[in-house]
Amino acid sequence: MIFKSIKPTWLRALPLTLMLSLSSFSAWAKPHVVLVATGGTIAGAGASATNSATYQAAKVPVDDLINAVPQMKDIADVEGVQAFQMASESFTDKELLSLARQVSALVKRDDVNGIVITHGTDTLEETAFFLNLVVHTNKPIVVVGSMRPSTALSADGALNLYDAVVVAAGKDSAGKGVLVAMNDEIQSGRDVSKRINIRTNAFASQWGALGMVVEGKSYWFRQPVKRHTGQSEFNIDDIKGDALPLVQIVYGSDSMIAAPYLAVADAGAKAIIHAGTGNGSVAGYLVDTLKKLRSQGILIVRSSRVPDGFVLRNAEQPDDKYDWVVAHDFNPQKARLLTSLALTKTSDTKELQRIFWEY
Ligand code: ASP
Repeated sequence: MIFKSIKPTWLRALPLTLMLSLSSFSAWAKPHVVLVATGGTIAGAGASATNSATYQAAKVPVDDLINAVPQMKDIADVEGVQAFQMASESFTDKELLSLARQVSALVKRDDVNGIVITHGTDTLEETAFFLNLVVHTNKPIVVVGSMRPSTALSADGALNLYDAVVVAAGKDSAGKGVLVAMNDEIQSGRDVSKRINIRTNAFASQWGALGMVVEGKSYWFRQPVKRHTGQSEFNIDDIKGDALPLVQIVYGSDSMIAAPYLAVADAGAKAIIHAGTGNGSVAGYLVDTLKKLRSQGILIVRSSRVPDGFVLRNAEQPDDKYDWVVAHDFNPQKARLLTSLALTKTSDTKELQRIFWEY
């Protein structure tokens, strides 16, 4: 009787077999999320529960990560792939390119709805940004880490991972570029960076989070406006080899010397990211060194050591006259990656500046 009272007439008329297949269809229709594990603190283990900062990163294998958060299985069918097992400070182009290729192959699979990448937090921002630039898809790709190992009191990894799966499984996450889920927030992989190295609210962007995840539901407030993933002119499928053109950063301060710039040039760098003071300023006594390097064909990109704001072209330095490029609002590490990637296509400074404005 209860059945009859709550089902509409058309459903009551359905034969039992069809209803059974409908219910199994809804189970089958759960989104399929692939969790690509790379190591980091989220896969870390400490000697005791009070070790929140002293531990070994990259210990817990992907299946244990999945089994540790069974609530994820209510949201999605989760498949695990162990890409690497390492601390992210040791990532190089080789790992970045390999990871991007693995993710690019996964998103092409019809049965895959979204990707979660577990990652160390040290270079998480680089990986999220790189994937945002080179993987051609509208499917959600979500990078996640934790600040405390799973063995610590108040470990943050389980909820971060659950939130990442919620975002990766959500249809409303599609087409927003590569995302980072940390500390209840959804950040753009383009903008986010690690700002605090000891607390769980480690990731932030000067432009704000795109949204939040609360109790297994995503709430969106913003949308990225720059080119990414599906609209990017860069595609991992077109990039050969396991190294990108060499680009290095020289950090600005008072009392600098020319030697680091010259050493980087001697090592074969095709571009130098100057992490300048203030608005990406170059000390007067270094201008000739940088002009000379540019005349030898090395690209000079002015970024800033100041975490917020953006570098204005032709303001502190006459970039047009010196043929230098400005990094816009990218921090030096993101400017380094974008320059490396751009160099796979062009070494023209106007083109490089256009790329900095557009991505
Ligand atoms: N050093 C670790 C890593 O980046 C830190 C972390 O994951 O929080 O792999």
